[in-house]
Parts: sequence; C-alpha cells; structure tokens
Amino acid sequence: MSLPTPATPKPAAAAATETVKPSNFLRQIIEHDLARGTYAMRRWGGSPGDAAHHAQGEPDPAKIRTRFPPEPNGYLHIGHAKSICLNFGLARDYGGVCHLRFDDTNPEKEDVEYVNSIMDSVKWLGFGWENNGESNLYQASDYFDFMYRAAEYLIEAGHAYVDEQTVEQIRINRGDFGKPGVNSKFRARTPAENLARFREMQGGQHEDGAMVLRAKIDMASPNINLRDPAIYRIRRATHHNTGDKWCIYPMYTFAHPIEDALENITHSLCTLEFEDQRPFYDWLLERLIEGGLLSAPPPRQYEFARLNLTYVVTSKRKLAQLVYDHKVKGWDDPRMPTIVGLRRRGYTPEAIHLFAERIGVTKSDSWIDYSTLEGCLRETLDGSASRAMAVLDPVKLVLSNWDDVMGAGFLDDCSAPIHPHHPELSKRSFKIGKEVWIDRSDFEETPPKGFFRLFPPRTDPSGTALPGSKVRLKYGHVIECTGCTKDAAGKITEVHATLIPDTKSGTPGSDSVKVKGVITWVAVADGLSAEVRLYDRLFTDAQPDAGGKDFIEGLNPNSLKVVQAVVEPSLASAKADDKFQFERHGYFVADRVDHTKAKPVFNLAVGLKDSWGK
Ligand code: ATP
Ligand code: MG
Repeated sequence: MSLPTPATPKPAAAAATETVKPSNFLRQIIEHDLARGTYAMRRWGGSPGDAAHHAQGEPDPAKIRTRFPPEPNGYLHIGHAKSICLNFGLARDYGGVCHLRFDDTNPEKEDVEYVNSIMDSVKWLGFGWENNGESNLYQASDYFDFMYRAAEYLIEAGHAYVDEQTVEQIRINRGDFGKPGVNSKFRARTPAENLARFREMQGGQHEDGAMVLRAKIDMASPNINLRDPAIYRIRRATHHNTGDKWCIYPMYTFAHPIEDALENITHSLCTLEFEDQRPFYDWLLERLIEGGLLSAPPPRQYEFARLNLTYVVTSKRKLAQLVYDHKVKGWDDPRMPTIVGLRRRGYTPEAIHLFAERIGVTKSDSWIDYSTLEGCLRETLDGSASRAMAVLDPVKLVLSNWDDVMGAGFLDDCSAPIHPHHPELSKRSFKIGKEVWIDRSDFEETPPKGFFRLFPPRTDPSGTALPGSKVRLKYGHVIECTGCTKDAAGKITEVHATLIPDTKSGTPGSDSVKVKGVITWVAVADGLSAEVRLYDRLFTDAQPDAGGKDFIEGLNPNSLKVVQAVVEPSLASAKADDKFQFERHGYFVADRVDHTKAKPVFNLAVGLKDSWGK
C-alpha cells in the first residue's frame, strides 16, 4: 500500500447531522395512502391469518406493514442491507411495523445456520421484529395449510386446473413474446376432476414432475406470466419445518402474495425483476378476496431497483460458490460483501445506513460505485475512530547522536491526542528512543521530485553538496537524515539520522526548525508487533458477473496481503471490533475472530482516501 501524505481528518461525518430524509417514490406512495386512509379500516387478528381471523381482531395498530422476506439459503449481502434499511426504515418512519419473514417455501436449500445469521444481521443493523409486545417473526412454511386451501378454492371456483403435460410441452405451449400460448388439453377439465387429481397429487399418488397445478387465466395474454402460471408442483423433499408432511410445494409466485396478505402487509416492496409478476400478484389476491379467504384491501407490490455494486457480486448463490470453492475464507471473510463480511472488515451499521440513504431508491437499474460505500465508512469512522501510529513495512531508523544528546539508554515521553477533534479525551503516550521503526517507503536513497520525507545527503549534477532531508517524527523531534546501511543484496537494513535538539513537539521553540515532511513511527522500545491484513477489492473487474461472464475470472489475485507490522503501545488495549485510524494509512479494525491481546490482528477497513486505480 502506498503511503499517502499526512492526512488532515475531515470534520465529523456530515451525515450524522442529516436528519431530513430525502423523499422518494415509495415515501410518496405511503404518504398518499396514509392521507387517503387506504389501509385505515384493516383489522389485525394479532397474528397472520385469513379473512375470518383478522375480522375478529382490533383495528390494526400498525399504520403500515412492510416485510423483509429472505430465503434462508445463504448469508445476507449489501443488497439485502439496502432492502432491510428500506423496509424497516419506512415502517419506523410511518408508524408501521416491519415483519421478518423467512421465505422457506422451497424445501431443499434452507439451513438453520442461515436463519440465525439472518436474524443476527438484521439486529446488528439496528432493527427488530418485536413490535407492541408482539413478535413479527414468521416463516412462510407455516402458511402451507392455508396455501393448500387457497389452491382448492381456486380449483373449485374454476380458476385452476391440474395439467399433465410434460414440462417440455408446457414450455412449448406457453408461446413467447410474439406468439400466443396454446391451451393444454387438460385445461377444460371440470373442477371436480381437477380437485380429485390435486388431492391425488397431495396424497403422494403421482411421481415428482408428473403434473402441476396451474392458475387458469389467459394463454394469449401479452404478459407471459399470466399464461396459466404453475402454482403447485410435486416435490418429494423433507422440509426443515414441516418435515415430510407435504410432497407438493407452492411456487414462489403463488406463495408470496398469500404470505403478504395473511400478514396484513400493506406495501410489499421487491426488486424490479418482479414487475411482470405484479399482474398475477393482483389477480391471485383478488380471487382469494372474492372467495372470502383473504381480507381486503390487499397488499400492493411496488418495485425498486436492486443494488448493483461495482467490484462485488450480490447473489447468494455466487457468494456461496466463492465460499465453497475456497476463493475466500468463509462467508465472513472481510473481502465479502456479506453483512458478516462487511462487519468483520470494520463496517459499522451507521456506515451502512448512510450508504442506504445516499444511494436512495429509484425505479431504474444502475450501478453504484464501490467507492461510494467506502466513502460512507470513511466518513462515519472519521469522527469516532481513535488514532494510532503503525508502521506496516518496518525498517529501523537509528538516531546516531541520541546517546550524546539525550543520554545512553534514555527513553523520552511523547504524547498525542486520541482524536484530533476530541481534546477532552485523554492522550495516548508512547516513548521515543535511539531506535524507531519507520515505514520503508518513507526513505528514498535517490528522492524523486517532490519527495519530502527521508533522503540522505547527496551531490547535485553541478557538483554541489546538498544536505540530507529534515523531517519531523510526528509528535516527536525533528531529525536530519545522514544515510543508510544495506545488505549484500542491496536491501536497506537501517536508515540513519541525527536528532536536532530542542525540537520535540509541544515544547517551546520546537518549531524553530521548519520541515516539509512529517512521518509516523513507533519506538523499537515499546512498539508491539501485530499482524495486519491489507485487504483490497475482491474483484479487479468492475462488473464481474455482468453479461453472463464467469465472475471467478474477475477475482483480484492480490486482494489480501498480510504484513507483520509494529504498532504503538496504546493498541495493547484494543479489543475485537475496535476501530482505529492508523495515521497516514487508513482505518483499521481489530479482527473480531482472530484478534487477541497476545496476538493482535488488524484488518484494513478502508484507506484514508480513494486510491483505487491510482
Ligand atoms: P439472492 O440472489 O442473493 O439470493 P434474492 O433476491 O433471491 O437474492 P432473497 O433472500 O429472496 O434474495 O431476498 C430477500 C429480499 O432482499 C427480497 O425482497 C429482495 O428483493 C431483496 N434483495 C435481494 N438482493 C437485493 C439487492 N441486490 N438490492 C436490493 N434488494 C435486494
Ligand atoms: Mg431468492
């Protein structure tokens, strides 16, 4: 990592004072609904349920209900964080509640490990599902009985039929954008025949895939999703909640609107790819309200643009592949865009909230640059992270006149503010002695133009002798570089300098010697050794999975560099998850998994400035 010139921290996060939330189309819709009282007459039976259940309940105390409905088949990522902040944030802002619902209607992929991590991530982001003494934590599989009843109702009302065409026939007969579909020969069966068949499906009398239940809508609809979509399929799979009770499972497009309606959701927010499903969502709920199974008014679906973030992939399936193929060290690898990965990287809920707010919600897909996310972290950490000095690529600096000027073996006391904007905090203290560690890149034997850090005396092209550079050891003394020693391979083993007396920071007259460079350092006497993990972007390709590319090929081979660093003694008290600004380097966090007092480990969260590609 290249060392930036000394940084001047910006004033505390501007965002912390941003209290007025920018409006967006969803806020406008909700405000309109609240003004019109669209949902004012709803009743809430105290738990999800059908029309009869809610009818005997109280007027719904929640002004709106939203939901975050993850499928528990992986760890949540930054895209989900956007959805969480949106759904829980809107409910909070408008006197509503947000449900956490595990969309576990697909029996094969779910795992309790994922369920637990999803709950942790939602809580970590500062949200909860306990509202007015009620826990709005649900699982869609609890609604299987109702869904089955709804399917039987549709059959009885002539709105659904069992189709025994093969999967291939169904596909061909669906038509395409230019070609209307063809009715299945099974479409004209009577409700009684369909009901008998459907009960056989449910009773396990047919093979997986032998037939499906389809909604009977319109095979010529310009919206292909309305061409008699499948709503139930046979699948012999043990479900983590319902075990082997069912051998038929509802399709997502059928299950989701029902889940929303049973839970009295008012505003069902999803990503744009579901826009074409909305007519079916509405069709289904209208039918079930007609039949008296669900209460009116139905929830409404609204679509917003999913988060696409450059230099990462946001798909649980692709993230799972990185984990299982050992491209990263787990779901919480600090390079992962998962919530657990971001947390371990040093991200805070505050930074993620700021990010969600800054990117806003829109109705058109776009890419957000990764640096926007990093900027939010930098801004939120600046005001809170304690400062510390760390030398990431140490080389020893020897102050050759130390014994004469300061006394042999003497260690002088230095101090520095914990935070430049919080003088009320106590100070950090550390020693300076004859030997200190400095960063290798702070010394140049032949300095390039504009290099103001350490370089030795030299002769210019006209033969004039020039002195070595003078720099300040930050919070310490001014020194003058005199030379270096090298090993047989030409590698610098020590840098030499002399100390200029009476120049210690904070002492009278200390700034009588003007210098152009200030460098950070740690004394050999009290420095602590620490492992520092320098993370970079996981992908070098800005859009690793765009256009069907093999995203694995876009991986950055240098996304992790581990160095043995020396850090100042104040870091001995660092605890896991504590965040610091290592002066001139960036923001670092004590690793929440591996950091111990005996073996400190710090992760680079984000550099001081955006240096990607520079
Ligand atoms: P993935 O492909 O990563 O599994 P998904 O959409 O299938 O994503 P779900 O668990 O079904 O994941 O998603 C739960 C909620 O999170 C959904 O409401 C979905 O719209 C939302 N969501 C998922 N990914 C994003 C994203 N990139 N941006 C915004 N919202 C998202
Ligand atoms: Mg999904």
